[in-house]
Amino acid sequence: MLNKTVIGLLQQELLELFNSYGLVLKPYQIKQILHGVYQRKVDKFSKLTDLPLKLRYRLEESFTLSPLKLATQQTSQLDGTIRFNFVTEEGYFVPTVFIPKENRKVICVSTQVGCPIRCIFCNSGKERFIRNLTSQEIVTQILQLEREVGKINGVLFMGMGEPLLNFENLTKAIKVLLNPDMFNISKRHITVSTIGMVPQIYRLCEEKFNIKLAISLHSYNDEKRNKLVKNCSYRVKEILESGIFYAIKTNTKLTIEYVLIKGFNDTLEDAKGLVKLLKMATNNKPKLVKINLIPYNVVDKVKNLFPSEKENIENFKNFLLNYGFLTFVRKSYGTDINAACGQLGF
Ligand code: SAH
Repeated sequence: MLNKTVIGLLQQELLELFNSYGLVLKPYQIKQILHGVYQRKVDKFSKLTDLPLKLRYRLEESFTLSPLKLATQQTSQLDGTIRFNFVTEEGYFVPTVFIPKENRKVICVSTQVGCPIRCIFCNSGKERFIRNLTSQEIVTQILQLEREVGKINGVLFMGMGEPLLNFENLTKAIKVLLNPDMFNISKRHITVSTIGMVPQIYRLCEEKFNIKLAISLHSYNDEKRNKLVKNCSYRVKEILESGIFYAIKTNTKLTIEYVLIKGFNDTLEDAKGLVKLLKMATNNKPKLVKINLIPYNVVDKVKNLFPSEKENIENFKNFLLNYGFLTFVRKSYGTDINAACGQLGF
């Protein structure tokens, strides 16, 4: 059994944890610990040199600064993306991806071990769902990467798992990310991506974090979508309604993610259906949404699905653009090291 970790605990929780071990710390000492851990990125209590030596020893004895161990890491030769594989205390794999963008360092974080949604085109869905990650395991991914690559400016909850099915731990992790004494990441640089868990989208809105929301839609049509997405019973119309509600309340743009699969959801009819649905859901205000088209990334365990042709991708994009919908074709990062969207397995 590992020592209890202090990572991801808010100020008051830290005080209480230390108290329960008979350690009475002054509030300024808690601040010193937070500063050491989150700003200076120390990986050992012994390096918290502004604390008394005896206290450092006591902390080192009883607590840890790393609830996840880094097992392996691979760097893409194509674009510098790095895939980190962590292991939990029980030995489960947790993939985290670092994406070096032009002037920002972005990280794609996992929220569960395996994924219960089981989208047929996604490697994470091929894995058995094992458990939710704790809020501490979620934020540790970011902390460990900061130790490796420096300050992270953008966090995408788009790794393995369905974040909104791990709501309590997700929201706790977000509080730690936003906290000025901890990660201090700007709310507009945090995005939660969901398959469309409608009640939780409304709950996230009530939290008033005003972070960004992305919905993985993949089709305008329920029947088609249900062939792709196995365990999400909400209808596209209600999913979009909740997403638009979120965007309006938080004054953000809703991102719609759409994996383009050859011959399945990339035809002109699909584009027309999507435009009709979006016009209705946005009440003819196309600026409320941004659409990311993601050409399907090949997943080894998936047979019979192929990426759309370049020409179809362009046509699909232009159709949406013509109706005033801001549309991008998302670049895939780290395809050579199985780090791209949908390629994250164990
Ligand atoms: N469960 C959440 C978070 C995972 S995000 C969600 O579904 O939104 C992962 C993103 O990658 C989603 O938009 C998903 O649809 C996309 N994706 C999954 N498999 C993919 C694949 N093989 N190729 C391209 N994108 C994929």
